[in-house]
Amino acid sequence: MARRKRSRKAQRKAEVPLRRSCGAMAAHMLLLERFPSFRAAQMRLEGATTRQRETRTDLRQARVVTIKTVVNVVYNTPEQNISQQQINSQISALNKDFRATNSDKSQTPAPWQGLVTDTRMKFSLAKVVRKKTDVAAFSHDDGVKRASSGGVAPTTPNTHLNIWVCPLGGGLLGYAQFPGGPSSTDGVVINYRAFGTMGTAQAPFDKGRTTTHEVGHYLNLRHIWADTPDCGGSDNVADTPNCAGPNFGRPTWPKISCNNGPNGDMFMNYMDYVDDVAMFMFTTQQVLRMRTALEAARSGLM
Ligand SMILES: [Zn+2]
Repeated sequence: MARRKRSRKAQRKAEVPLRRSCGAMAAHMLLLERFPSFRAAQMRLEGATTRQRETRTDLRQARVVTIKTVVNVVYNTPEQNISQQQINSQISALNKDFRATNSDKSQTPAPWQGLVTDTRMKFSLAKVVRKKTDVAAFSHDDGVKRASSGGVAPTTPNTHLNIWVCPLGGGLLGYAQFPGGPSSTDGVVINYRAFGTMGTAQAPFDKGRTTTHEVGHYLNLRHIWADTPDCGGSDNVADTPNCAGPNFGRPTWPKISCNNGPNGDMFMNYMDYVDDVAMFMFTTQQVLRMRTALEAARSGLM
């Protein structure tokens, strides 16, 4: 009996990915194929971002915006029906990270400390929707966002950030929809094992940073290595050093790639793949990109 209990526990543990994996780019490619207008909307936003970069002077004067947030809990087992406190712990973590009041930002290497920037965005919980599902694990195909596939549709996605918390298969911690896509699937999806800072959240993804990362995508940020297998890509952000690929775990600084010495990869950026305790900053140009996405493509949230 005791042995069986242990092995069941071991099985549950195996659900937690050992390293970060995000499905945002895979979901993005699917949507670009299905919705040609999405590509046009993304190009318009890129143009608006370039203009902002050339003209905008001071992000510190931007209005503080509170983004109303809906959390959709889609659970297959009772454990996955996470508590209100766990949801609150995620909103609190998001608010610290997006206002740059997270205490671990002090670990930012000296050459980059001046880049740590407050987005002047806050999140307030507007509603929690709970739904029991027969689906054991969802994927990046947006099944969790439709009742017909065992999920639940978003609540007023033009004016509210929708977050789905559910079991995700394939080692995925989360994924997001970039701005300009169909509203019926707009929002971010987070593995219940990587949501909030307590309850079902499990180390090394128990500081709420998976949601910070996915909301970064939702506000048009790319991975800092640009999802290319070499040094050829760009995240369209000038103050994140060019780097070769994702970093995992808890790297030691500096870590050089793509001739980016002496400071190396900015692996402590929220848009890399390191563990939650190893990521703690957005840069000024990333914040400009997110503010432009908010004001130009997601103004309903304001
Ligand atoms: Zn990602």
